Amino acid sequence: MVYSDYFNPEAETMSVEQLRELQLERLQHTVRHCMNSAFYRDKFQELGITPDDIRTLDDVRKLPFTSKDDLREHYPFGLACVSLKDCVRLHSSSGTTGNPTVVLHTQKDLDEWANAVARCLWMVGSRPEDVFQNSAGYGMFTAGLGFQYGAEKVGMLTVPAAAGNTLRQIKFIRDFGTTVLHAIPSYASRINEVMLEQGIDPRRDTKLRVLCIGAEPHSEEQRQRIEQQLGVKAYNSYGISEMMGPGVAFECPEQNGLHIWEDYFIVEIIDPVTLEPKPDGELGELVLTTINREGMPLLRYRTRDLTRILPGDCPCGRHHKRLDRLQGRSDDMIILKGVNIFPIQIEKILLKFKELSTDYFITLETKEVGDVMTIEVEISQMFTDDYSRLQALEREITRQLKDEILITPKVRIVPKGTLATSDEKKAVRVKDMRKLF
Ligand code: ADP
Ligand code: ZN
Repeated sequence: MVYSDYFNPEAETMSVEQLRELQLERLQHTVRHCMNSAFYRDKFQELGITPDDIRTLDDVRKLPFTSKDDLREHYPFGLACVSLKDCVRLHSSSGTTGNPTVVLHTQKDLDEWANAVARCLWMVGSRPEDVFQNSAGYGMFTAGLGFQYGAEKVGMLTVPAAAGNTLRQIKFIRDFGTTVLHAIPSYASRINEVMLEQGIDPRRDTKLRVLCIGAEPHSEEQRQRIEQQLGVKAYNSYGISEMMGPGVAFECPEQNGLHIWEDYFIVEIIDPVTLEPKPDGELGELVLTTINREGMPLLRYRTRDLTRILPGDCPCGRHHKRLDRLQGRSDDMIILKGVNIFPIQIEKILLKFKELSTDYFITLETKEVGDVMTIEVEISQMFTDDYSRLQALEREITRQLKDEILITPKVRIVPKGTLATSDEKKAVRVKDMRKLF
């Protein structure tokens, strides 16, 4: 069977002019629809604006920002723009730090979400003949049901394995002939490790071909390592529950930036301090406005995720803007001795060393000499326990890290299995125990 390269050719290959026209029409509609919520009515009143003030796409900058705190303060249903009887599902975040955030969906919202995910899965080569296995948690975590409905829309046979139980996960991959797998990056590495422990060679003994990895920051080096280990092409998937979940932005076969679906969102990159727009190519905070959502549209939602728009057109034929690999959230940034460091910069260096595994942990402490960073990293199975070789390796890692992050961390190579390996949960990589003064 010969398929089109696109799941929805019209929407995916629309020209930039057509996209802008559609965006303005949808933005104006969304803004009027937002007046059904007291939250946005109040915000508009404070700013002295009305929906009629939105005449061009640049007018998006007149709109108020929406933050995670807004969602928390108006928990649970304060930002709904339809009555609850018209909603069919809600998702909520974990809420470890206070009230969780809640997002409400109508049936149309869920259909659009499934279409977005299907578009992404098709883009990376999934077809109805494929077997799709999802290792994300089902339930409130959006990557479970989000990928499920998208994969069904593509027409694949789906295996809703859900999170955890790695041995069972591997059994399913082998018994059902899974070709497309969704896993968070740390878990993909875990699956590889357990397969090796079981004497299974993922490249020889499975049919895995495509891996969708996302939900947590990971470096290009980590992607390449996972691709090589599992014998797959791995594509970066960006999702955020406030925008729906997976399906927001995804890499195309070029593996060079993540197309963000501009018929769903208006994309801005801002300076997180001055809130001024950043030009394409510059790093800043991603701000998104939903333009085809009914249940709970969000205007200028501050994701806290740092990225940049990659300038230029993509050879794949999609004109939707591309986001650079996500650097992490602004809250993940480590400020040490006045230097700004992202954990992903450290990962990038560590993974250059074949002798190291993908598990590492960063601790920040206040000592007599001042604040210090210790990086523990696990050795890979095959490497030596020769002490002098380990020391030489630690020195070389330290040198390369200093070149990248400009400060000298203390590097400790630890035996395999020392650092908690991640299961279904997003990996926690940093512990900050510094005294504030
Ligand atoms: P939670 O806030 O509980 O983690 P979400 O599932 O909504 O809930 O997580 C969304 C966040 O996960 C994003 O804001 C981003 O920080 C991170 N994230 C998602 N996808 C990626 C990705 N591909 N690369 C880096 N970070 C990602
Ligand atoms: Zn592309």
